[in-house]
Amino acid sequence: MVNKQIAQHWWILIGMFLGILFGILAVWLGWHQFTLFWIKPWGTVFINLLKLIAIPLILVSLVSGVSNLNDVSKLSRIGFKTLGIYLITTIMAISIGLIVVNITNPGKFLSPEKSLEFQQKYASRIAQTDVELTQGPLQFVVDLVPENIFKAMTQNTAMLQVIFFAILFGIALVMLPEEKTRVVKNLFDQLNDIVMQMIHIVMLTAPVGAFCLIASVTVEVAGDSLQETISLFSSLGMYTLTVIIGLVFVVFVFYPILVSLFTSVKYRQFLKGISPAQFLAFSTSSSAATLPMTMQCCEENLGIKKEIASFVLPLGATVNMDGTSLYQAVATIFLAQIYGIELGFTAQLTIILTATLASIGSAAVPGAGMIMLVIVLQSVGVPLEGIALIFAVDRPLDMLRTVVNITGDAVVACVIQKSENGRVLVQ
Ligand code: ASP
Repeated sequence: MVNKQIAQHWWILIGMFLGILFGILAVWLGWHQFTLFWIKPWGTVFINLLKLIAIPLILVSLVSGVSNLNDVSKLSRIGFKTLGIYLITTIMAISIGLIVVNITNPGKFLSPEKSLEFQQKYASRIAQTDVELTQGPLQFVVDLVPENIFKAMTQNTAMLQVIFFAILFGIALVMLPEEKTRVVKNLFDQLNDIVMQMIHIVMLTAPVGAFCLIASVTVEVAGDSLQETISLFSSLGMYTLTVIIGLVFVVFVFYPILVSLFTSVKYRQFLKGISPAQFLAFSTSSSAATLPMTMQCCEENLGIKKEIASFVLPLGATVNMDGTSLYQAVATIFLAQIYGIELGFTAQLTIILTATLASIGSAAVPGAGMIMLVIVLQSVGVPLEGIALIFAVDRPLDMLRTVVNITGDAVVACVIQKSENGRVLVQ
């Protein structure tokens, strides 16, 4: 099993590496159209396969996870503990982002001419992102409760609603006497096994999927010329770098501290076990699409118990986004600096609050964090058009923050397992 997992990790990595090489070559040789017509569709098929599994996976794994927790007191203990830790890690990630951005001051590096150029160039694209300006920070609470579960299950962006339904269903199942629910419990346990088997099948294609996704993203980000990309990155370089420094700090300083304080795992082994999911998160930019792999890695490589993984991870995929919240904090300060808006201590506290809510409310799909950034910007009075400025580098940052998002979920799963007197077994 271990060898199989390690092989999987290498194959995905090789797929990604070849994807970058192919993408660069395609930009160089002008195979733009070929890549978009003949390579990208396979990447889309792969993402669709993952998304296809996401809703059934969340539904059956949460219902069987919650019902296997057996009694309501255990369930509420684990539930509150999980949500509490998720909240703490998110607030810590935002604070790290704020500290880094206040040191690097990336907004002071972008020339006014470049700033104007980006605003004009990307303004129309922002208009298309269908940003809902009238939503307040508590909109996610309203969105949490579906009015129709079948409608919710047909939208990948409504996963939180499916989670809500599944948890309620699971709680009701636990509260009823065993003999009344045995058949349904068994049914969900068996459905869970079937969905896990589907995941195994789909994951066999992960290296090819990663190749196609990375190749097409490279070509798309590069546009028609490599020069344009390089100039984009150099002018938005300090901002990009600030987000990256913050994310790296979270993964290589903050999480290792958590893991060493609250679990018995060695962080290196933890990283090795979770790496296939990290590569997939990087390739897909979606925590939801990566969820099947995150669960597989946590259960098979880190030895997280099924009852914990199937509760903590689906919840984390949509609720816990440390990378996204950090990015939202950095982006807000960056844009404020560009518009010459001073954000004092109170404003920065507001950012902590709203970025927490915005990251909870962000769907676990590509680009969702940038759309929810609107809420954070609005809360401190930074013009929303500013998003146009950071649009160009959003995709690569999205790939990186998604890696952090799923890593955070896995860290919390280890912490919860340990706190429930379970050992995390890393082979
Ligand atoms: N793509 C991220 C995720 O799925 C969300 C975001 O930051 O846009 O985790």
